Amino acid sequence: MNLLTAAWVPIQDKGLYEKITVQQLLCGEKERDICLPRDDMELACLQLLSAITQTLFTPENKKSLGKYVTQPLTPEVYLAAIQDKLNWFDLDHPDTPFMQFRGVKSTSATPMNKLMAGVADGTNKTFVNPQGLIEGLCHGCVAIALFNAANNCPSMGGGFKGSLRGSTPITLLIKGKTVRETIWLNVLTEETINQMMPWYEATKDQVPNYLTPINKGGTIQSSAIGLLRGLLWQPAHFELLPATSEQQICSCCGCNEQVYTGFNKEKFSYTIEGVWPHPLSSRIFTIKAGNKKEKFPSFTTRAPTWTHMSRLVVDQQTEKGGQQAAPVIQQARQFIASEKMQLIVGGYRNNQATILERRHDLFSLKQGWTEHGEVIHRLIETGLSYKQCLINSLIAFKNGRKKSKQYEEIKGAGINLVQNAEENYYQQTENLMQQGLAQVHFEAPEDDLDALQQQLKSIVKDLFNQATAPYRQEPKMLKALAMARRSLHKYLKNLEPQGEKNE
Ligand SMILES: [Zn+2]
Repeated sequence: MNLLTAAWVPIQDKGLYEKITVQQLLCGEKERDICLPRDDMELACLQLLSAITQTLFTPENKKSLGKYVTQPLTPEVYLAAIQDKLNWFDLDHPDTPFMQFRGVKSTSATPMNKLMAGVADGTNKTFVNPQGLIEGLCHGCVAIALFNAANNCPSMGGGFKGSLRGSTPITLLIKGKTVRETIWLNVLTEETINQMMPWYEATKDQVPNYLTPINKGGTIQSSAIGLLRGLLWQPAHFELLPATSEQQICSCCGCNEQVYTGFNKEKFSYTIEGVWPHPLSSRIFTIKAGNKKEKFPSFTTRAPTWTHMSRLVVDQQTEKGGQQAAPVIQQARQFIASEKMQLIVGGYRNNQATILERRHDLFSLKQGWTEHGEVIHRLIETGLSYKQCLINSLIAFKNGRKKSKQYEEIKGAGINLVQNAEENYYQQTENLMQQGLAQVHFEAPEDDLDALQQQLKSIVKDLFNQATAPYRQEPKMLKALAMARRSLHKYLKNLEPQGEKNE
């Protein structure tokens, strides 16, 4: 199956599930949303489509990208572009199969479960495919799963390498009005690539590492990896077993096709020095003794995606370090002048090879965000500081107060209400924070920020009351409760704008 010519892109058209070709998509013949039962697979599918489009058509500058965004390709242009790339995208190629290596040796085949993040890693999670395990994947789904495992997932364990971005990077895509537009908005122009990757010209003619493999145990400088080679980087040695001769139901999309039921994998280690600047990732860095250390942000706690927004879209630098927005965002700042920009943000939270959670969120940013990153920062800080008031007051309830010169001792209630309250806070404020980002008047944000503060304040008070309600009748805890409530009011007051502090 060749990804450049076969119908493998899963879409839904008037309620009917259908697979179309990349040509149909880029030529604007079908403008429907990608449709798969798992949102991580949908995201990986969009990512793969952008990588394919980047491979076939790298626009020279803003103007030529604009043309691609507004005008669908003609079939002639598409067919001419794929000719010399066909052997990059053939899933069953005799020598250089897509994102695989021939001759991978393993004592037994690995079942397909292992290729789907979070299905077979032993923990019980609600997002596991409802049908249970993955028995077989169709051509399209297996290509997406291979790409996802190579780009977005932890490695298969010791001796296997993970993606160029580390184990579970946050991926960010700009969302257009149609899938076609989305794909193009995540393709970089040569202008942008030259800025993010000064070695672009010198590495322009490289092919993927599954065509010209790297040496086992070798060391590679990230600056020796060109854009397309990096986008299609296969960190691990995998080889699919041949597809079944009979048609079966695909465990992911549910189509009836020949399916792949397993793959061989072989340990293969090497070292990459330096961080490769991925188009869909922001980077955070620290500077110590003049040395810059970079990494890709990922979801490491339960804190929701909005808490990461500042480091995903705002550039910032101090002497100690900073953050740089993803190259697609840098490009969009000059490119998208419309009233708002929509972002798709996704990724996994993991504990080593185990996926604990997956994220897929949609954010809007209103016009003005490019010049007013500090407003995004303030919005998020506001959301976080109100949460902290709640947490600190509940810690006071649990621990009480030690005796000091000024105060007598108050015995703590000894009950930990923090984690629940924190989760409830995040749940109840999610929409509010998303709306805040989508609607704040970036030029004059004070009224919006004030309104947000008032809403957050009332949520915090309610959550405090809710959390402590069961202990209101406990005589032994009354003092701790009263003290915790006083602390809460003090913390909340500290967050009020200056003029209102002494009301
Ligand atoms: Zn499928």
